[in-house]
Order: sequence, then C-alpha cells, then structure tokens
Amino acid sequence: MEAEAETGTRGSNRGRQALGYSVALLSTGLCAAARIGLNPVYHDDLVFLLFVPALIASAVTGGLGPALLAGLLSMIASLGPMGVPAIYNPEVLVRAGIFAGLAFVTGLVGSRLLLSADTARRMVIDLEAREAHLQSILATVPDAMIVIDEHGVMQSFSAAATRQFGWTAEEALGRNVSMLMPSPYREAHEGHLVRYLTTGERRIIGIGRVVVGERKDGSTFPMELSVGEMRSSDRRYFTGFVRDLTERQTTERRLQDVQSELVHVGRITSLGEMASALAHELNQPLTAAANFMKGCLMLLDRDPIDRARLRDMIGQAGDQALRAGQIIRRLRDFLAKGEADRRIENLPKLLEEAGALAMIGAREKGVRLKFEINPSVDLVLADKVQIQQVALNLIRNAIEAMENSDTRDLVVGAVPVPDDMAEIYVSDTGHGIAAEVASQLFQPFMTTKQQGMGVGLSISRTIIEAHGGRIWVESNPTGGTIFKFTLPVVKPEDLTDDE
Ligand code: ADP
Repeated sequence: MEAEAETGTRGSNRGRQALGYSVALLSTGLCAAARIGLNPVYHDDLVFLLFVPALIASAVTGGLGPALLAGLLSMIASLGPMGVPAIYNPEVLVRAGIFAGLAFVTGLVGSRLLLSADTARRMVIDLEAREAHLQSILATVPDAMIVIDEHGVMQSFSAAATRQFGWTAEEALGRNVSMLMPSPYREAHEGHLVRYLTTGERRIIGIGRVVVGERKDGSTFPMELSVGEMRSSDRRYFTGFVRDLTERQTTERRLQDVQSELVHVGRITSLGEMASALAHELNQPLTAAANFMKGCLMLLDRDPIDRARLRDMIGQAGDQALRAGQIIRRLRDFLAKGEADRRIENLPKLLEEAGALAMIGAREKGVRLKFEINPSVDLVLADKVQIQQVALNLIRNAIEAMENSDTRDLVVGAVPVPDDMAEIYVSDTGHGIAAEVASQLFQPFMTTKQQGMGVGLSISRTIIEAHGGRIWVESNPTGGTIFKFTLPVVKPEDLTDDE
C-alpha cells in the first residue's frame, strides 16, 4: 500500500511540474502583454513589478523550477525592449539582480508550501486508511465497542453495540452512556466516573466485571464489560468492550465458569448419590426405633408391666430418632457449609453478578430483571460463593414461579435496616405460595416441583443463619412472592488501615 502511495505521489509531482511550467509560460506571457499594453504609461521604464504575479503563480503551482523560468522570461520581457545598452546601466543591473533574488526566494517558498501540502495530503490518506481499517474491525468483531469521553458522552458506537443494545449509532452518539444501564446504575454512573477522575478509584476500568445492561426496549441482560482508558492531547476517553452473556456460545462457556465458580453446584449434584447413602443410613435408626416401639407395645400387653424395661426401650427408641436427626443435620451441613470463607464483600456487586448469572437464558422466557439497590448499601461480611448461591437460588425459584404468569417482573433489591443489617429481597410476579406449602417452605426436601430437590431454601436458611441473618417469605402485594433475608453490614469506620 505504501509503495502504491509513493508511485502515486511521484506521478502527481510530475503532473504538478508540468502545470507549474505551463503556468510560468502563460502567466509571464500575460504579464508581458500587460507590460506592452501599459507602454504608453511607462514608456521604456523597467517595470519588474508587473511580473511579480507571474512569479507567485508559477511558484505556488510548480515550485522553484517554474518560478525561476518565470523570473528569466520576465527579465527578458522587461529588458528586451530596452536593448543591449541597458546592460551597462548599473541601476538596471541592481534592479534585475533584486528581481532574480525575488524569483529564487518565491520559488523556494513555493516548493516548501507544496511539500507541506504533500505531507498533509499523505497524512490524510494514511489516516483515512487507518480509519477504514478500524471501522472494518469494529464492524466484524462480535463484542460491542463503545467509546465515551470524560463526561460519559458516547463518541463511538459499533455495529455490534447496535445489535446488542438496539440503539443505532445515530441515536446513541452524543448521548450519555448511562442510557445503556438499568436503574440504579444509570443514576450512579456519573458519580463513579467523577470519582475515578478525581481519586483514581477503579470499579471497572482495567478490571472488567459482569454487569447488567439495558436495551432500547427496556429489557436487561447480563454482560461482561472491560474498559480501557486512552488519553488524546489533554482529554481522556474510555473504551468499553461489551460481551452479551446471553448470546449462546458465550453462555455455554460462561456456564462452565459459573459451575467452577460455584463449587456448591457440584455439591448439590452429588445429592443423588448422597440420597441413596442417606436412605440406607437413615433406614437403620428408623427401623431400630420402630422395632423398639413395637417391643414397647408388646411389653404393655403383658401383666405385670415391666416398667424398667419399658422405660429403657422408649429411651432407646428416642435415641435412635435423635440419631436419624443428626444424620440429616450432617447432610445439610455438608451441602451448605463447606469451608466458610468470610470476607468483606461489596454487596451490590455480589448481587449484580448473581443476578446476571441467574438470568442466563431467562430473557428468552420474557423475564425482566430490575435492580433496586439502595446506594447506601455497600459492604457486608460474607462468604461470597455461599451468598451468591442463596441469591441465585431465590432468583431461579422466582423465574420458575413466573413461567405461566402474564407479567414477569423480577426485582432484586437491598435496603439498610436497623441493627447494622442490610435487607435483601427478591420479588416476583409468579404464582405465589400455597398456604399448606408456606409453613414448611424451609424444611429439607419440601418441593412442589416434579424435578425439584426441595433443598434450596433449607440450605439457604442454614447459610443465612450461619451468617447471623434471617430469611423469610412474604406475599407480594401486586401478586407473587417476595423472599427476604438479612446480612450484617460492615461500616466504613469498622475498617482500619491495617485490615
Ligand atoms: P426446589 O426449587 O428444588 O423445589 P426449594 O427449596 O428452592 O426447592 O423450594 C421449595 C419450594 O418452595 C418450591 O418447590 C416451591 O413450591 C416453593 N417456592 C420457592 N420459591 C418460590 C417462589 N418464588 N414462588 C412460589 N413458590 C416458591
């Protein structure tokens, strides 16, 4: 491509030279005609001044060569009518010398100008080629690319961005990028940007994370966002690459990541194997308890009743029943607890990620997820994986409960409540909970689903209680269900520098 450009430049140089020389001939001719026309005024006076326009015209069209030719021709045209004796006139010689110098300088300046114009033209061609190259990349790359300035105003909106968000580039350019986010992120975005610009605190820039995006039609979707920063002269720009996690291929890959992230999923899938071992293990104490009770019945029929033996057998039956209870507790602990790894976590981020993951595939079912996280809710002390498992479980249940509903509005929210706790809620517009189910909802193996295990809520309760919180259910005034749970918050003053 460069060689091509060079050949083109050489060709255009030659063309310009020819033009320059033609202009030199023509313009000097015209000036000479003017000179002859004005002869009655000037008589035989030396009037180089009349030829200056010819010099300039030749210099700007062809550079030094044509300017010198114009100079030479001008001198001949000026001196010619004066005849040979003029050569011996010192004044004529001085003026001719000055004119020759002027021709030379004008030529040099002309050449310089032409060279700069050439460089500028080449730069423009180069820039255009790069721009076209970039555009072709942007048009084909599957990730959406959005460039914003320091105020969040969109400067560039790729074809994939149009596909993912539903806005055309014309509609998006010049508007604030927050229009691509659902509330409350929309309102908070400006603050994050200002905070980053003033303090350098990063939330996404250079880190990347899973967040929720909003399309033109108001629906939301999980997306993986990475943002890079660019400085151009004294301005800063941010380039965001967005990968829609609901797009199928990515979903499959991401699902694998989710599985390895949420180790508990693995624990639960081994529940099938556990169940048979459990049935076997439970069978023993339960059969023993039943046998003891039968023995008691027999003892009661005897006369006289052996009270000491009866007491002993009832005691043993009770012990066996307790043993069965212990086995179930052990199973719950196994499923729920693992090695608790409690750290200070950002609750909005934790919920946002869980929501984004739980929504994989749900958009196709017409479910809209809305976050209502109070901005004052921030840090909690929690095992991230466990709490995400609870949130994931509640959101999945909510999505399943709305399968046959006309409206499918899912809200995940968080508000501060007294006693330094945060209350998290997952509300749906599903079928709600029948009274007979409600009382046993958090019991293990309580399910109304054909494929259900009935352990999700029971494990969730164990997790939340182990974190010092509470979990309960309420009915949604607009129809459906709201599950709520609390977690202890960490206040900024609790954090010391050495922590
Ligand atoms: P599973 O989902 O395997 O049945 P869970 O313990 O998570 O186990 O849920 C137990 C039962 O609680 C479900 O079978 C369902 O009947 C009821 N349930 C849970 N969440 C909801 C909800 N959002 N709306 C209506 N019913 C629900």
